[in-house]
Amino acid sequence: MSATLDHLFDQNVAWASQKTREDPQYFRRMAEQQAPRYLWIGCSDSRVTANDVLGLDPGEIFVHRNIANVVHTSDMNILSVLEFAVDQLKIEHVIVCGHYGCSGVNRAIAGEHSAMLDNWLLPVSMFYRKHRATFDAITDDVERVNRICEINVEMQVRRLAATPIVENAWLRGQTLHVHGWIYAIHDGLLRDLGPHVSSIGERDRLPSIDQMVLQPTEAESAMRRQAIAAFGAIDVTDPRLHACCPSGRIHNS
Ligand SMILES: [Zn+2]
Repeated sequence: MSATLDHLFDQNVAWASQKTREDPQYFRRMAEQQAPRYLWIGCSDSRVTANDVLGLDPGEIFVHRNIANVVHTSDMNILSVLEFAVDQLKIEHVIVCGHYGCSGVNRAIAGEHSAMLDNWLLPVSMFYRKHRATFDAITDDVERVNRICEINVEMQVRRLAATPIVENAWLRGQTLHVHGWIYAIHDGLLRDLGPHVSSIGERDRLPSIDQMVLQPTEAESAMRRQAIAAFGAIDVTDPRLHACCPSGRIHNS
């Protein structure tokens, strides 16, 4: 393979020419302006790309990604993206989207402390340690990580909704909805985890993240219902369908 990555330039030319053949005005339209309706805050994992997952074209979604989709309220990067999306682009939907099997979450609970990454993951690792007894009651390693992936999304939704950028938008009457979703790489389906925050009042009425840890996940997951609706003839009794995220994964005492 060439050290100059010529193959990527070749693929770029092939992609641009195909796009132009399909729609001669495509790039002219792209160059005029961007008017995305959504802001995606997701993981840097190379398999979880917002446009592909949602079937959207460039220009339709504004994107911020970092390892384990963490909202650090002192992170200039995410705050700048959020501010631009809310104040300039007037985006109405912010989606915090994690994914099952997240390596970042896996590392956060592994007790590592040798890299910059471990500083980044500190909110996740600290939360895991706080609720370790509950999480460790989940005996299956994959299920435990997946449950923390879900809780991590819930936590980041709350952190995002507490930022002055979001709060000020609500105070001036701007429409802004914050959602918490999770993506399953093994079947390509999104799951809405439920938090839907559209005002300061709704934010303040959310159960605390500590309460969320103790709530069992719904027996019939939204993801499963989506899969049935999407594929129709799917065999819902096939346990392999949801091998990484079965229901009842949390073991409450
Ligand atoms: Zn990840």
